[in-house]
Amino acid sequence: MLVVMKSHATPEQIQAVCDHIEQLGFRAHPLPGAQRTAIGITGNQGEVDRGNIEELSGVAEVIRVSKPYKLASRDVKEEDTIIRFPALGSHPGATIGGRDLAIVAGPCSIESRDQAFAIAEYVAQAGAQFFRGGAYKPRTSPYAFQGLGLEALRIMADIRSRFGLRIVTEAIDNESLELVAEYADVIQIGARNMQNFSLLKHAGKLRKPVLLKRGLSATLEEFLMSAEYIMSEGNYEVILCERGVRTFADHARNTLDLSIIPAIQRVSHLPILVDPSHGTGKRDSVLPMARAAVATGCDGILVEVHHQPEKALSDGPQSIYPAQFVRMMDEIQQIAPIVARSLPRGIRIETAAG
Ligand code: PEP
Ligand code: MN
Repeated sequence: MLVVMKSHATPEQIQAVCDHIEQLGFRAHPLPGAQRTAIGITGNQGEVDRGNIEELSGVAEVIRVSKPYKLASRDVKEEDTIIRFPALGSHPGATIGGRDLAIVAGPCSIESRDQAFAIAEYVAQAGAQFFRGGAYKPRTSPYAFQGLGLEALRIMADIRSRFGLRIVTEAIDNESLELVAEYADVIQIGARNMQNFSLLKHAGKLRKPVLLKRGLSATLEEFLMSAEYIMSEGNYEVILCERGVRTFADHARNTLDLSIIPAIQRVSHLPILVDPSHGTGKRDSVLPMARAAVATGCDGILVEVHHQPEKALSDGPQSIYPAQFVRMMDEIQQIAPIVARSLPRGIRIETAAG
């Protein structure tokens, strides 16, 4: 159920409606929009008696949301969600969603301070606003590199202050979630954990943006239901990420499903990024698919970059070289205006990478 407030409803009226909903034993989710506030109701098994709510002052109407995902749906919030990150010292603020494309770049895993700083310098110089790097790695093999854990988080905290890059890193379980939340600007939940409902609920209790990657074989509805788990706990800052799905095709690691972008945008207000690295698994395919993703209308790109990919401890074959990243930025900057987007490249800092 959804309570649509009148456009001139006061904060007190909105609060009174929320209180009323909570007194009925349900959860109220006020979602302010440009025109009016809507209040999502969750926690109800069947229909909520709308009569009393409709009588409360400031209420325009009470409507039923027919989709299984509610808070993630456009029925509840018509306008696109824009997630805002304040300025970091002399580095300008950033957004995910809205007109500006968000670029998240960095290695698959943080392998050492030197490796992470070298790559961060390149991607900052080229204009990325976000740095990615795995501290906790969900690996298919228990014998593969599992990540440096806390040490990697500390390295990324230093990268944040040195380069003004916001940090995106993955939490793989409830234990790592607490630490990741302390250090990261955006908590990543990986494809393999998209339906780890306990992890989703814990992330929903935090007040930090969550980047949710599409599961290896998740449908659109399953993907949005996972976002709904996070939002139902009160964390509305969810960023979706298409990263390819399993198909019969064997020319690529996964099949990047760009057709999900317009399909998601039709039914959901949440921003969606595209990861052409895991989506293809092949360095040479990353740039063409990044171009296509921007042309499709996504809100940004998440990409793996490594200065020595042949030595990378994970995902070397799909990591692009810094020079290829610069080219990607140049090309998507040219494509962006065609789809009414722009690519802010931040303050270019003078660094040795140059
Ligand atoms: C990653 O981003 O490094 C990663 C493990 O991605 P995914 O969860 O999409 O496989
Ligand atoms: Mn990876």
